[in-house]
Amino acid sequence: MPAVTLKAPRLFREACYVGGQWITADNGATIDVDNPATGDIIGRVPSLSQADIQQAIDSAQAGFNEWRQMTAQERADLMLRWLDLMQEHKEDIATLMTLEQGKPLAESRGEVDYAGAFIRWFAEEARRNYGETIPAAKRGQHIVVTRNPVGVTVAITPWNFPAAMITRKAGAALAAGCSMIIKPAEATPFTALALAQLAEEAGIPAGVLNVVTGDAPMIGETLTASPVVRKLSFTGSTAVGRKLMAQCAQNIQKVSLELGGNAPFIVFDDADVDKAVEGAIASKFRNTGQTCVCANRFLVQRGIHDAFVEALSKAMSELVVGDGFDEKANQSCLINKAAVEKVQTHYKDALDKGARHVWGESPNDAKGNYVQPVLITDVSHDSTVCKEETFGPLAAVIPFDTEEEAIALANDTPYGLASYFYARDIHRIWRVADALETGIVSINEGAFSNPAAPFGGVKASGLGREGSRHGMEEYTELKYLCMGGE
Ligand code: NAP
Repeated sequence: MPAVTLKAPRLFREACYVGGQWITADNGATIDVDNPATGDIIGRVPSLSQADIQQAIDSAQAGFNEWRQMTAQERADLMLRWLDLMQEHKEDIATLMTLEQGKPLAESRGEVDYAGAFIRWFAEEARRNYGETIPAAKRGQHIVVTRNPVGVTVAITPWNFPAAMITRKAGAALAAGCSMIIKPAEATPFTALALAQLAEEAGIPAGVLNVVTGDAPMIGETLTASPVVRKLSFTGSTAVGRKLMAQCAQNIQKVSLELGGNAPFIVFDDADVDKAVEGAIASKFRNTGQTCVCANRFLVQRGIHDAFVEALSKAMSELVVGDGFDEKANQSCLINKAAVEKVQTHYKDALDKGARHVWGESPNDAKGNYVQPVLITDVSHDSTVCKEETFGPLAAVIPFDTEEEAIALANDTPYGLASYFYARDIHRIWRVADALETGIVSINEGAFSNPAAPFGGVKASGLGREGSRHGMEEYTELKYLCMGGE
């Protein structure tokens, strides 16, 4: 494919990785993958059949049988070899990511590092997969609790972090001794396939890590219908997560769900405006506004409103929009036309309900998949932007008067993934941190991602945690051994 120029061309795979083999669909069907910046076709991946998916399940079962027998140290060593190869080929992985997802190259490089950090964290955790002993109820009896891998697991991942959303799951699964079948998003399969190529080169045994592509509902149904699959970890929209959770009920499969959000970003009168603006840019404009933890609603207290809005528009005017391969660009295109239309709809709806355009080009003037950063204020809380994720570079400001009002507005959403607030009063900081109904509360900080910390949401934002020692627990089952005495 002329569109893809890599230092190691073997990393560009147009086949799926199943049971240590690179396979195409049994009927030869394929799916085109395009570059969202240009619309050009980058390449094609297989649209696997149900029989192919069954083959992946059988392979993952065989892989699990071998992987679980290895020591934690042996597994960790192979994972760290995989990490070394990711680092060695960082530029190629970043290139594939920018090609298929559009994000600026610097962000793609950063994502390779972030993705690798999960492999390192979980490889280290593998050796600390401790059980426990419990004082027995009877003389001579012994109670021991062991932690065991759940078995064959599945990861279904989104397009916005094509590498990190995979390693956050695969790192935990592999460290715990599980095998995994990964179904990446249709828009971004090449990053996942490159990671599988490197896993093979690292010597991770056949069947332990498998990557399949094709019709998402069919793949989801086939995997959840199999009693061999013992766990599903999904990152994506709440609508699809809800459907998959229901499907997992058939075989009582364990489920982890990392779903959508609608993050409030609260700026109180006593905040440091410069710090708040710095955090706002980091939170709102990472991946051009396409992250699940992006600030979606800026709740700003009236006493600081004008200063914050003025400083934010100045900082936004310094953002550089361009092709992801332009090293000067820190904002790029959105993933597709539907994403552009969503920003346009949220913008129009807010203005129809009384919001004021403060700074930037109207999303209605978008060219191709490029939407320019735009700032609006006096947004009414019944606007769509306050109810749904925008997933684009629209900064919407909602002024408020009191702390109670801010907390009520922040929690007035079915979602509960991340929230942010800026304040200096220590009593207020504790009160607000306690009151916010989100799995993550970021205080005077705009960028909190860290593999050592538990990431996840409450309410309609999901179930379970990824990263940290809790991330590995999601891939284990406890076994209680009760040994009687003589
Ligand atoms: P999506 O439409 O839900 O897709 C996510 C994944 O699910 C893709 O691989 C997709 O495959 C697959 N899928 C779609 N329908 C399916 C079905 N019926 N059965 C099985 N799999 C199915 O979400 P997205 O648009 O890719 O991602 C954006 C969403 O992810 C946002 O809501 C964002 O907030 C959320 N997200 C959450 C986190 C978090 O950690 N909480 C992180 C990142 C993103 P196809 O691509 O082939 O359709």
